[in-house]
Amino acid sequence: METTAPTRLVELFPAEISEQLGLPAFQGKQIFRWIHAKKVSDFDAMTDLPKALRQRLHEECVAHGVELVEMQTCARTGTKKALLRLGDGESVECVLIRDRDRITLCVSSQVGCALQCDFCATGLAGFTRNLSPGEIAAQALVLLKDEDLGERTPNIVYMGMGEPMRNYDNVVRSIRLLMSPEGLGIGARKITVSTAGEIKRIEDMAREDWQVRLSVSLHAANNPLRSRLVPLNRKYPLERLHETLRSYQAISGRQITFEWTLLREVNDQLQHARELMDYCRGLRVSVNLIPWNPVEDLPYETSTREACVAFAETLNKRGIKTTLRQERGQDIDAACGQLRRTKGSLA
Ligand code: SAH
Repeated sequence: METTAPTRLVELFPAEISEQLGLPAFQGKQIFRWIHAKKVSDFDAMTDLPKALRQRLHEECVAHGVELVEMQTCARTGTKKALLRLGDGESVECVLIRDRDRITLCVSSQVGCALQCDFCATGLAGFTRNLSPGEIAAQALVLLKDEDLGERTPNIVYMGMGEPMRNYDNVVRSIRLLMSPEGLGIGARKITVSTAGEIKRIEDMAREDWQVRLSVSLHAANNPLRSRLVPLNRKYPLERLHETLRSYQAISGRQITFEWTLLREVNDQLQHARELMDYCRGLRVSVNLIPWNPVEDLPYETSTREACVAFAETLNKRGIKTTLRQERGQDIDAACGQLRRTKGSLA
């Protein structure tokens, strides 16, 4: 007997749903709206579709084919972390962070990661595969399912597992799905793609016709240290990255954020802040400092509060807008790669 894989509707834009299923345009829109705007994945709940069509969807399609394995909520901060099982049994995680009135979703772009940054949990298990556009978008849909957003639109950051720039086409398509006005309708300025410095893709991103933000994980502004922390630096050293970022800004006119994970006595000293200040010259950047979230088996420690504050003040005094991110997930393992690491055997 011949079996074909079910159509995964979450991957498709309204016109593509209509085309693939041979439906009138309005029904493609209806289905897209159910999945993306109302975050409904059960075809029986799609009450404005004719019964025969719902039956057909059951037989031929899945909404997103992603299953929620576990949702942890931090009682103190309201941070939510979801572990999802994908169609092939792999698992991936995503996080919803609350900051006063703001909601930020942190999504993964790959299962695992090949970059092997020295302080990151995700790299420990190596790279498995890229996520499809729908598997990325589905993370936002699952996290927002029971959220009453009111007038707010969430921010979305590609800062979960994986290197988004090594899955560029799927990431771009997932962003367009998330931006679609028939769906979540997230504004481009509310979306940030974070990269360890894949320069060819930064060049591609400069030419995209959108205002999606770029964040670069710097962590060190001298080559020996950065090559140790972020091995990709051996391929694209700081000078090359700087040139690329300058040209990115010349083409796109957009601001950049540097991410800097603070590691005790490794990259949190004043000399490191000074190196960063020098590196910022010629660029319009702000800096996001992230206290390191401890990962078992890795030889690093979290910076002291005093060191974090002093680092931030040094930069702010020199006119580089710097924010110190509060840790919001330690008690639910919400650092990159950590939930999957403890529960990964479920896959
Ligand atoms: N590969 C991309 C996106 C995923 S990592 C990138 O490198 O930007 C998202 C951010 O989290 C990066 O800045 C990364 O360096 C940081 N990070 C990874 N593990 C961390 C940890 N244990 N504590 C704090 N930040 C971490």
